[in-house]
Amino acid sequence: MSQEQTTITSSGVSKIAIAVLALVFGFGLFVVGFDQGHIFSVVMGEQAFDEMFIHELTHDMRHAAGFPCH
Ligand SMILES: [Zn+2]
Repeated sequence: MSQEQTTITSSGVSKIAIAVLALVFGFGLFVVGFDQGHIFSVVMGEQAFDEMFIHELTHDMRHAAGFPCH
C-alpha cells in the first residue's frame, strides 16, 4: 500500500495587492518626508509652495522620523 501526498502552496497575497500597498507606502513617505507644497501646487499653483499646508500638517512627524526639514 502506497500513499501519495501532494502539497500545494500559495502565498495567498496577490502581487497586485503588494504593488498597490507599495504605491500607497511611497505616496505616504513622500507626503510625510518630502512634500514642500508639491501636491497642492497641482490645484493651487505657486501659492502652495508659500503656504505648504501638508508640510505644516506633518511637521512634527517629519522631525520625529528624522527627515531633514529646515
Ligand atoms: Zn521642521
